[in-house]
Amino acid sequence: MEAQIVPNFLQQRTFLTPDRPALSFLGKTYTFSEVYERTYTIAGQLQAAGCMRGQFAGVLLRNHEHTVFILLALQLLDVKAVILNNRLTAEELIWQMNDSKSAFLLTENTFNEVSQKVVNSLGEISAIYKEDLFRRDPDEPSVVEEISLDEVCTIMYTSGTTGNPKGVLQTYGNHWWSAVGSALNLGLNENDSWLCAVPIFHISGYSILMRSIIYGMKMVLFESFHEEKAIESISIEKVTIMSVVSTMLTRVADALKGEKLPEYFRCMLLGGGPAAKSLLEDCREKGIPVYQTYGMTETSSQIVTLAPEYSLSKLGSAGKPLFPSQLKVADPNGKHADPGEAGEILVKGPNVTKGYLNRKEETAEKLKGGWLSTGDIGYVDKEGFLYVLDRRSDLIISGGENIYPAEVEGVLVSHAQISDAGVIGMKDDVWGEVPVAFIAGDENLDEKEVMKYCFEKLAKYKAPKKIIIINEIPRNASKKILRRKLRELLEESGN
Ligand code: ATP
Ligand code: MG
Repeated sequence: MEAQIVPNFLQQRTFLTPDRPALSFLGKTYTFSEVYERTYTIAGQLQAAGCMRGQFAGVLLRNHEHTVFILLALQLLDVKAVILNNRLTAEELIWQMNDSKSAFLLTENTFNEVSQKVVNSLGEISAIYKEDLFRRDPDEPSVVEEISLDEVCTIMYTSGTTGNPKGVLQTYGNHWWSAVGSALNLGLNENDSWLCAVPIFHISGYSILMRSIIYGMKMVLFESFHEEKAIESISIEKVTIMSVVSTMLTRVADALKGEKLPEYFRCMLLGGGPAAKSLLEDCREKGIPVYQTYGMTETSSQIVTLAPEYSLSKLGSAGKPLFPSQLKVADPNGKHADPGEAGEILVKGPNVTKGYLNRKEETAEKLKGGWLSTGDIGYVDKEGFLYVLDRRSDLIISGGENIYPAEVEGVLVSHAQISDAGVIGMKDDVWGEVPVAFIAGDENLDEKEVMKYCFEKLAKYKAPKKIIIINEIPRNASKKILRRKLRELLEESGN
């Protein structure tokens, strides 16, 4: 099939609705034509610095208006952005720069130390600091006026929560279909405005930028998440939708202190990991409109989302696939699992990646006939609603019974004094493995009392056999529990 050709997204958007608000950052708002102007100049500066169509460029930048302009400038030139997680160590960055064969590292003074290490180690690549770039005389940029939906737009490395990170190829088509699928589900209103307080280097943030361009919608960008500022911004900027992960939502819900969010605020898009039932119930009580979603870097953000009319009756479900996408659960033999039967979640659709950069074998292993094996376990009910249980690799098998850490964590955080929890398996002579819980929360937390609480709420085999109180549950930039770190802590504690 011929690849589909579309106009350059930003150019088209600027042509269609130049005067609409596009981006708001630290109280300053830019229209699409203003964004285009800044982006066009930066594209010229990047070209003057030697960036060329088809190259890969590592991007190590914070959430900032400049980052939006730079990312869009790369799109104008069709330079593929290898978007780097800015919490990575120099070693990890070097690994990803090497793996992607990036020609440049686009960075900023904030990351000087780590960027220098990267450049010193990778002799042939040079760092372009945004501070220097913006002082350059721009060339007349060769803007790519048409783009094939098949063309790679961005590369994001999986967060490496499990194993070595892999560069996920995200095409223009993947982003396009992801935005379209989301709009068909959530609806689109001309007053919509989406708050991005998640990292823009992660697909949850970058996908908001793409929706802003494709929909002609304002994105309100935060440098980092802050619950009170988020609540304030929802009022001041008339935000209607916000993307959150569980820990962010918990903080917003607590900070509301009985106040209600404005009527026009219509969606908390909650994804990235499992959500505790107690949180969903709390939000229901507080009138916070939560849409649970399931997605990953490989699906260019959401692929399964719970439609609003089911948010109460299917509490805890991640919903049904977006219109262009499909979902199935495979039993251990690879056959369709029955309703209610747990198995690996497979997804398919035009928002699903075509594979991992320079990894033919892993791509073939994970993608068969367009179906992506997600490595996550879940089940669908009779009506086709998905319930995500956990990652296959996190599963604890105790005396032949499956224990999903997410379920146990959900019970733990429903305890009034526990603010966060992480559960892992510990070797056990009798049961093979037993669950151990790490908890953080109030000073007067009492292990015995928590243990009792768990026994009341969970089947005996699921209740943690050991409880360890720590100051903070280790989480990565996407706020995911670093179970690897918990395993180290367990070893240190003598187990
Ligand atoms: P890596 O692949 O390197 O281990 P990662 O999978 O954490 O990294 P992401 O693509 O950011 O990187 O995260 C997607 C994963 O997050 C999903 O595969 C799933 O495990 C988890 N996840 C996302 N949404 C949900 C949800 N609604 N419920 C439970 N888990 C979810
Ligand atoms: Mg993954």
